[in-house]
Amino acid sequence: MNRLVKWAAALAIGASMAMPAVAQDKGLVGIAMPTKSSARWIDDGNNMSKTLQDRGYETDLQYAEDDIPNQLSQVENMVVKGAKVLVIASIDGTTLSDVLQQAADTGVKVIAYDRLIRDTPNVDYYATFDNFQVGVLQATSIVDSLGLKTAEGPFNVELFGGSPDDNNAYFFYNGAMSVLQPYIDSGKIVVQSGQTGMDKVSTLRWDGAVAQARMDNILSAYYTDKKLDAVLSPYDGLSIGILSSLKGVGYGSGDMKMPVVTGQDAEVPSIKSILAGEQTSTIFKDTRELAKVTANMVDAVVSGGQPEVNDTTTYENGVKTVPSYLLKPVIVTKDNWKQVLVDSGYYTEDQIK
Ligand code: BGC
Repeated sequence: MNRLVKWAAALAIGASMAMPAVAQDKGLVGIAMPTKSSARWIDDGNNMSKTLQDRGYETDLQYAEDDIPNQLSQVENMVVKGAKVLVIASIDGTTLSDVLQQAADTGVKVIAYDRLIRDTPNVDYYATFDNFQVGVLQATSIVDSLGLKTAEGPFNVELFGGSPDDNNAYFFYNGAMSVLQPYIDSGKIVVQSGQTGMDKVSTLRWDGAVAQARMDNILSAYYTDKKLDAVLSPYDGLSIGILSSLKGVGYGSGDMKMPVVTGQDAEVPSIKSILAGEQTSTIFKDTRELAKVTANMVDAVVSGGQPEVNDTTTYENGVKTVPSYLLKPVIVTKDNWKQVLVDSGYYTEDQIK
């Protein structure tokens, strides 16, 4: 008995000593995220670290608070610390070329996370969502909510774009315009401000206050005697600013119907806004799935294999076409939020209500 206890204890010690060694065996992965100012990136960072740690990697997760030099030095540090793989959601996708050259020189592999890294050969793979489709879904929400297919119109619509240094912003805008442009051409949609094209509608650093100020200006310059029917907004954080501008001039009360307002990321305040009848829709991008796809890529590159990709033609970064895995974005409205967000376990109902 005594011997058996000793044997069991030795086995337990052996096992517990072996555990950390196994946990660290696979090496360090650096995870660079853009900002904590939006819940989606906090979820991304948490899901990414947890998934990688569960698979036996050490992780170094850093947020740069939308400051480009800050992100550069964080990535440099990861290389110095000996990261084998870098998973990077860039702030400005064109600013990382030098540090990624250093990384490549020491054999570090690089995976662009959600946002494409541009102007460098040193990005190995790209894990993201179908960004063009995000824009298609946003615009389709406008088309359906206004009943554009059958209604006579014309309807007044204003357009907002994302940050001009984020490659995704162009995909969202182009996807949306692939749906809206025919209605603009036929006169069923009128952009009273005349502001179309990413050079006119973009919103630096995805800043909600910037969108709110632009909406204020548009409303006072073009809509004092006209009614606005819809706003294309590419991100929940912008939609919140846009909605408060609209409310400021009386939309959403009395006989001033709230315009259709789109969004992206299914952030909690925006789901609440959808339930309150303000925002019309958002786009859910399951960051748990993105973490899984990215971790699969990390596993493959660490073991010298080929990651699974499903797109090898779309994401040209200025130097090369980066092999990509695109996940499917999902539209969320007051009709399906529970099924998409709660039944899938992404949020609890208590978080929303
Ligand atoms: C992401 C979006 C997000 C936006 C602002 C984009 O790169 O793909 O999901 O809404 O950045 O954070």
